[in-house]
Amino acid sequence: MNFLTGKRILVTGIANNHSIAYGIAQALHRAGAELAFSYQNKKNKLRLEKFAKNFNSNIVLPCDVTKDTSIKELFNSLAKIWIKFDGFIHSIAYAPKKQFKGDFINVINRKSFTIAHDISSYSFVAMAKASRYMLNPKASLVTLTYIGAERAIFNYNVMGLAKASLEANTRYMANAMGPQKIRVNAISAGPIKTLAALGIKNFKKIISYYKSVIPMRRLITIDDIGNTAAFLCSDLSSGITGEIIHVDGGFNIVAMNELNL
Ligand code: NAP
Repeated sequence: MNFLTGKRILVTGIANNHSIAYGIAQALHRAGAELAFSYQNKKNKLRLEKFAKNFNSNIVLPCDVTKDTSIKELFNSLAKIWIKFDGFIHSIAYAPKKQFKGDFINVINRKSFTIAHDISSYSFVAMAKASRYMLNPKASLVTLTYIGAERAIFNYNVMGLAKASLEANTRYMANAMGPQKIRVNAISAGPIKTLAALGIKNFKKIISYYKSVIPMRRLITIDDIGNTAAFLCSDLSSGITGEIIHVDGGFNIVAMNELNL
């Protein structure tokens, strides 16, 4: 199934092979896309270069989304290799660790609010702003969100607010970029054990509760997310923009099932 042949896509957010972005890269590669990668932490550079080789790529570039200069340098460097490209995967989020533990009102503070929104929401539009001139018509931008944007989840705290902002950002970006024939969507993923997720207190309990109530009775994998991202990056999804697509085994449609009675 080479439905992404001829598409060039930048993937951000691979920390290791458990990262959601890793599953997305696998699916994009299977479907025939050419890939480029960015990393923040210098410690991940070598590992990412190795992964990139498996995906027939040698494009591995640094980018810390908290700095406009770093975002600009990412696309300046990419432009020397790809004059134009067909989209990017934004798989980036961060809030200080203390925010993911305990009573929301007690732990929230102005600084953490700002950091969470800057890295987890603003960075998506910042990347679009910096790369707009390089994006081909029919390009597709995809970000990752979580149901904590729609409903209160204990310990998810300020990240729920940042994800709500990211989802609104997705709709505003889709509206602004639609006339340029660029689509923008978000995947609302079910919980997956990744480095970022393990920073949330009691994340393992979230997973086991989730597994017990979702219609599909199985956990979502990075393959499930990857396949949806590949669809969203392809012309198969040409009529879809500004959407938040739940890839969560149906968790979001359930209020109660027989296991809770
Ligand atoms: P992950 O493997 O830890 O990936 C998070 C990535 O964010 C890392 O690669 C990290 O880079 C990057 N990042 C953080 N700050 C950055 C910065 N300033 N500049 C550039 N990159 C930065 O965790 P993940 O679960 O796959 O997370 C990917 C996305 O999926 C996030 O948006 C997350 O909220 C979302 N999501 C996750 C779940 C879940 O259950 N896992 C569910 C729904 C949505 P470094 O490693 O270099 O710091």
